[in-house]
Amino acid sequence: MDKNGSAFSDSVDRMFETAAEILDLSPDLREKIRVCNESYTTRFGVRLKGRLHTFTGWRAVHSTHSKPVKGGIRFSSRSSLEEVETLAALMTYKCSLMGLPFGGAKGAVAIDPSEWDRADLERITRRFTQELSRHSFMSPAQNVPAPDMGTNETTMRWMQDEYSRLYPNEINADAVVTGKPLTSGGIEGRIEATGRGVQLAINECVKNPPPEQADRLPKTLEGARVIVQGFGNVGYHAAKSLVESNGSRIVAVLDRDGAITDDAGIDVDGLRQYMDRHGGVAGYPVGEFHDPDQAASVLQSDCDILIPAAGELTITEDIARNLRASLLVEAANGPVGYEADAILRSRNVTVLPDLFVNAGGVVVSYFEWVKNLSHMPFGLMQRRHHENVSNVLAKSLETMTGQPFPADAAAHFLSGPKEIDLVRSGLEEIMHSVYVQMMNQLVATPEIEDLRTAAYYIAVRRIADAYAAIGI
Ligand code: NAD
Repeated sequence: MDKNGSAFSDSVDRMFETAAEILDLSPDLREKIRVCNESYTTRFGVRLKGRLHTFTGWRAVHSTHSKPVKGGIRFSSRSSLEEVETLAALMTYKCSLMGLPFGGAKGAVAIDPSEWDRADLERITRRFTQELSRHSFMSPAQNVPAPDMGTNETTMRWMQDEYSRLYPNEINADAVVTGKPLTSGGIEGRIEATGRGVQLAINECVKNPPPEQADRLPKTLEGARVIVQGFGNVGYHAAKSLVESNGSRIVAVLDRDGAITDDAGIDVDGLRQYMDRHGGVAGYPVGEFHDPDQAASVLQSDCDILIPAAGELTITEDIARNLRASLLVEAANGPVGYEADAILRSRNVTVLPDLFVNAGGVVVSYFEWVKNLSHMPFGLMQRRHHENVSNVLAKSLETMTGQPFPADAAAHFLSGPKEIDLVRSGLEEIMHSVYVQMMNQLVATPEIEDLRTAAYYIAVRRIADAYAAIGI
């Protein structure tokens, strides 16, 4: 059994058990909620570069208390069945916490995508899609993948296209995956969504901090010093949103091949463009470079906020003991294990839990899925109507006051909402209301001592209620 996968799965189970204990769930119901409903392993062959290669892929369905099940597809040579099942469990709890009508799933193919060219990746993805579809592990009504580590909107486009070829009469075929390109039924704001959600989560916490940690946390995000581990989709967009919306300073970025530190603040777009060209951070001409074996000391350097956005269990117990951030924000899934979490709690470090922090992606995936099922972009029916009504109101105000409507307000007030405006406001609303629910639960339940337990408590209670409603 894979050691990392086991430690991760054990950690999530213990976090679940803490909440289940406070909820006083019966042992039978605990077991039913905790275990993964079903998992599919496929070993499929693809002829590439003149050779037949055999790849291993998985799709795990953790819970179908609500359908379809939702969860990303990861391309990573470190993936295992146990990792995929644990990530699927996290998806169940995450969707429940966020109030989304989905059960939890996850998938992976055990490959390092950097070792294959684009045409190879397309053939691997299409073959994997055939396997998932043939075995009912993909469908708009039952099981809807999205991008995750090592995959992106192009991967989703290949999956959507392959599925549509297999099921040409499926009128809702576009809804079989989310995170698609805009030209293929995707939604504005999906690529940035998880990172933007991370930024919204941090804003909520700074505005309304857990009472016992309020003194230690930054009072404002303006100028706050931030370290980001993992500068892929989530890490980059989180950093970009914090810089652009809050004026925070990114003082260190870590990736696989090392770290860049710069006290003056890293140019996030500059670094991202450099990584796209060179495949890593090594050689970036601004700031100081550190080898990968110095990662722990960079993570423990002076900052206000630490954002792990890479993979599971990257914040070891040793790092937890020594890190200096007062706020740790789990942008990745499961970066802090159970033991490291206990250390952070004992040190009064605030941890914003993954179930909440990185849910922006699945929230906007939900909007995309609804858009695909309705076959109509958001705002189409309201936009012109809104503009007409606003124009009548503005003209009436001008007539009544004899003053022209202020030009700076007019642009915002008179034009109807575009899809991106609706997506961003929907995301902000959900992130805000779920944070308030977690804080209320934390304050109201004496046995709940931290936001992670509050998140699990709310999520697991809702799943237990869903089972109770069908008589289980
Ligand atoms: P990605 O593949 O786009 O980026 C991951 C980055 O982390 C890469 O640049 C990689 O080189 C780097 N990395 C890997 N191991 C590292 C290590 N040990 N130290 C430093 N850097 C390392 O993946 P992503 O989509 O940004 O996902 C990152 C995390 O966020 C994962 O845990 C994923 O499950 C989670 N997540 C992603 C989404 C999404 O919408 N993409 C949604 C929810 C959660």
